[in-house]
Amino acid sequence: MKKLSALLVLLFIIGACIALWQVSRSRTYQFFGQLVPHVNTSQKVVALTFDDGPTPSASGEILSILKDEQIHATFFVIGGELETNMAEAKKIVSAGHELGNHTYSHERMLLVSPSFVKQEIESTDKLIREAGYQGEILFRPPYGKKLFTLPYYLSKTGRKSITWDVEPDSYPEIAASSDKIAEHVIGKTQPGSIILLHVMYPSGRESMKAVRKIIDSLKAQGYSFKTVSELLAMADH
Ligand SMILES: [Zn+2]
Repeated sequence: MKKLSALLVLLFIIGACIALWQVSRSRTYQFFGQLVPHVNTSQKVVALTFDDGPTPSASGEILSILKDEQIHATFFVIGGELETNMAEAKKIVSAGHELGNHTYSHERMLLVSPSFVKQEIESTDKLIREAGYQGEILFRPPYGKKLFTLPYYLSKTGRKSITWDVEPDSYPEIAASSDKIAEHVIGKTQPGSIILLHVMYPSGRESMKAVRKIIDSLKAQGYSFKTVSELLAMADH
């Protein structure tokens, strides 16, 4: 009997751990506040989002593509990078794009203390303001990971968490080729989609090469591009 109850306790603990792990990586659910992976709309509108950086090596190139295409995007930037590369952040803002908070250190925000969460978010928001961005600052968790303290702080302070519903970079066989990245994004995009790409580091070269193809093909299908804030404002109620 004792053995059986010990086994049941063990099974319960394993089950609870699996459930918590699933919540920690969910793109659509968190314990506190809302998580937005896409926007409900029937209009052909999408948001292109670029995570990490800004870096001097890639910011100029992505800005020139977006300028040629005459669209605005959302950059979820890292506080530590902003501090070093403030000039790049200012260029992104003055070109009319949106800056979002992607934490200061880009650590997985799982078993972290409330004071660590506060420091990560507030210091990065402050740097985003220094870069000149004046709109509402949206938040995106590094690696999409969160558990208790992060969503609790965001919800308590009225911040919105944004994830994504199109993410080619998570599949190595797709991420290795700009054609496959573009094909994946074009195939998965729907009205209201939030597309995630990483273009700021050398590992994102294929994604950078895919950006123009993605924009041109979605434009040809009748899509227009919005910042995440603009997309949120277009949600059907
Ligand atoms: Zn990231």
